[in-house]
Formats: sequence, C-alpha cells, structure tokens
Amino acid sequence: MAIMQDLQYLRLLQAAVEQSFDAVVITTAELDHPGPEIVYANPAFLAMTGYRLDEILGETPRLFQGEATSRPVLDRLRAALTVGERFAARTINYRKDGTAYDVEWSISPVRDEAGTVTHFVSVQRDISLETREHERRQMLVYALDASSDSVVITDRDNTILDVNRAFEEHTGFSREEVRGKNPRILQSGMHDRSFYQRLWDTLKSGDVFRDTFIDKQKNGQLLHMEETITPVRDEEGELTGYVSIGKDITDRVHTENELKRLATTDMLTGLINRMHFEKILHHEHERVQRYGHPAALVMIDIDRFKQINDHCGHPCGDAVLTRFARLISDHVRATDSFARWGGEEFMLITPDTDERAAMALAEKLRCLVHDTEFPEIGHVTASFGVAGLAPGSTPEQSIHLVDQRLYAAKQQGRDRVVGPDNR
Ligand code: GH3
Ligand code: MG
Ligand code: MG
Repeated sequence: MAIMQDLQYLRLLQAAVEQSFDAVVITTAELDHPGPEIVYANPAFLAMTGYRLDEILGETPRLFQGEATSRPVLDRLRAALTVGERFAARTINYRKDGTAYDVEWSISPVRDEAGTVTHFVSVQRDISLETREHERRQMLVYALDASSDSVVITDRDNTILDVNRAFEEHTGFSREEVRGKNPRILQSGMHDRSFYQRLWDTLKSGDVFRDTFIDKQKNGQLLHMEETITPVRDEEGELTGYVSIGKDITDRVHTENELKRLATTDMLTGLINRMHFEKILHHEHERVQRYGHPAALVMIDIDRFKQINDHCGHPCGDAVLTRFARLISDHVRATDSFARWGGEEFMLITPDTDERAAMALAEKLRCLVHDTEFPEIGHVTASFGVAGLAPGSTPEQSIHLVDQRLYAAKQQGRDRVVGPDNR
C-alpha cells in the first residue's frame, strides 16, 4: 500500500514537472571539469531551447551559453553553488538555432538523505517579451526626457501621473513635487473662466485642445506655453487620461512684445510714434462717425527750436525734447494719446472732448510750457493748433486743418493757441 502511494506520488511529481509552464532542467552536481551533466529537462525547457531531449542529455548547460551570457553572473552562480546555496539571476542564453533569449533562472542544490548535494535543479523562464517591453518603456522615457517640449501625463481625474525633464526645466517643479497634483498648480490667474470652460468642453467632446497658456513657474515668473492637450482612450474607447505637450514660447512672446513696443514708440522721447498715432487717429475718427462722440486734435510745435540747438548743441536739444514730452504727458488724461509727430512737433488726440474744451486744454498747456523752467535752456514757448474731429471729415482733412492753425499761430507771433475762432 505504502509502495503504491509512493508510486502515485512520484507519478504526480513527474506529471507536474512535465506539464509545468516553466522550464525545468536537472543536472549532476559536478562543478569541476567537465562540469554538470544534464540528466533531465521538461518539455517547456525543450520548447524554450529548441533541442530534443536526446541532444542535451549528458551535455553541460554551457551548451546554452554564448557571447552575451553574463560572465559575472556565471561566476556568482558558481560561487553560490560551490557553497550549496540557491542562486537566481537573469542573463542571455542561446537556442539550438543560435538565437538569443533573455532568461530568468533559479538554481537550487538537491540533497540526498545524508545532506550531500547530488544534483542541481534549475527553473527557468524566457523573459524576452518582458525585457523587450521594459526596454521599449525605457526608450519612451528617454525619448520624453530628450524632448525639448514639456510633457504632462494625467489620469482621467486630471491628476498628474508623470512629467518629463523639459517640464521640470520650464516650470521649476520637480517630478516628485507634481506627481499626484492637479495641473492647476501652474495657473497664473491670467486666463478667465471661459478659457477653462472652452478647454474642458473641447476635451470632454473628445477633441484635441490647442492654445497658448500663460502659466506660472514655481518661482512665480510667467511662462508662455503653446499647448496641445489630447484625451487618451484605451482599446475599449474608455477615457484613461490626458497628455499635454507644451512648447515654451516665453522668449518669443517677450521678443514680440518688445518689437511691438519698438514699432509703436518714439525712441528719443518714449512717446507713441507717428505711425501708431495715425492708427489711433483713424480709430477715433471712426468713433466720431459712428457714435457722434466729440474728439479733438491738438498740434504742438516748439518755438524757435533751431536756436535752442544752436545755443546749447544737438544733445542738449534732445534733452529739451524729452523734458518737453514728459511735461505735456504729465498734464493730459490717461485716455488722451500724445505722440511725437516728428522733430519738435507733437500731436495730442483728446477723446470725448469738443473743440472748445480742447482750446481750453491747449491754452492750459501753453501756459504750462511758458511758465516751466527748462534746466538745459531756461524758458521755452510753443505754438498750438486745435481742431475738432468733425463728422463727415477724414483724418487727413483734420490733420491738414490743425496744421494750418498751428501755422497761423506761428504767423501771429508764436506762444499762442489757434483754433476755429481766432485764425
Ligand atoms: P519755429 O517752429 O518757431 O518756426 O522755429 P523752429 O526753429 O522750431 O523751426 P523748424 O521747424 O524750422 O526747426 C526745427 C528744428 O528742430 C530743426 C531741427 O534741427 C531740430 N530738430 C528736429 N528734430 C530734432 C531732434 O530730434 N533733436 C534735436 N536736438 N533737434 C531736432
Ligand atoms: Mg518749431
Ligand atoms: Mg517744426
């Protein structure tokens, strides 16, 4: 009965090892030359290596080793087995046809009743697929980190799962700091609710959202990012999260703003330049035509400026122009536009001001200039022409009119204002 039970038990063990999904190979315990001999291999091992059983029985496991098999791993294996310890590792082995595969093995000594190591049993698994998958993921991580665009990956609740190195560089936040957080930590307050409404409406409908974001870095500085946010779905079409790719355009935005500023500013005085003033004038003319709002134009020319230049030199004349520009700027409303028209001529446009009120303003400015002491030259005077922007007239006609009136002021002796009544 006991013998029967033993037999049944042995059969069970044999069937289990034969049918094991993992590869099993048993060798003798001979470590010295010619090395351990294979005494058993299960079908999974044969399938993995491509050999028939009769081809490997009596051979040493060196049969499966090759150029890429790790020497240090083999050395550690030998050291462990010499002292009768179990050893587990990963390396590369070779099939009968010469192709390599990644293998994970665990080799244990088998002892007899007296405790002597008689065999080694090795359980192995071909992990090539996992290794490829791991390498593929690693490559993706490297690729993301090599990208100069910042990448943010969030889950379906928009919680940050991961970011790449460019994100860390752009925002100043580290991976560890932002994982588990919501991307709203980057919000600068520069976008209104409708911006985020549009963002979520687009993403919820499954579309890609593209726009320029003004984000805030960790140190509080603004960051202009050209972002593309894409909803990500799994094979079943279920939303799994969002991937956001952003290009840092902060430098470009600053350059554009600077170019815009340069294009609209007079370099010497810092006032609006003539080109930009003409745009404002056209816009104001339209308001006059469309809504009947009053508006007026004041043209100012410094009297005998040539003498100022002659007297104290051109750089000193420049300083007078700058001081003159600041003086007038400081005494007009924020809604008025004051520009350098050219040389020592200036233009002022006053919205919501009729010709009469503009005359009063011009007279106030004339007195201001008259009474102001210019450290460079002493007293300076200026002449003024005033013209309302009349419905039905063109900006060019208004400029012509105000220029005529300024000319009249010069003719009448300078340091005066000429408007519609006293030409
Ligand atoms: P008035 O207007 O009273 O008739 O005499 P004016 O001497 O001011 O007349 P005009 O318009 O003929 O001369 C203006 C002078 O302004 C000529 C030019 O040398 C000088 N000027 C023009 N632009 C600048 C500038 O940017 N800097 C300096 N320093 N001088 C300038
Ligand atoms: Mg002048
Ligand atoms: Mg002039």
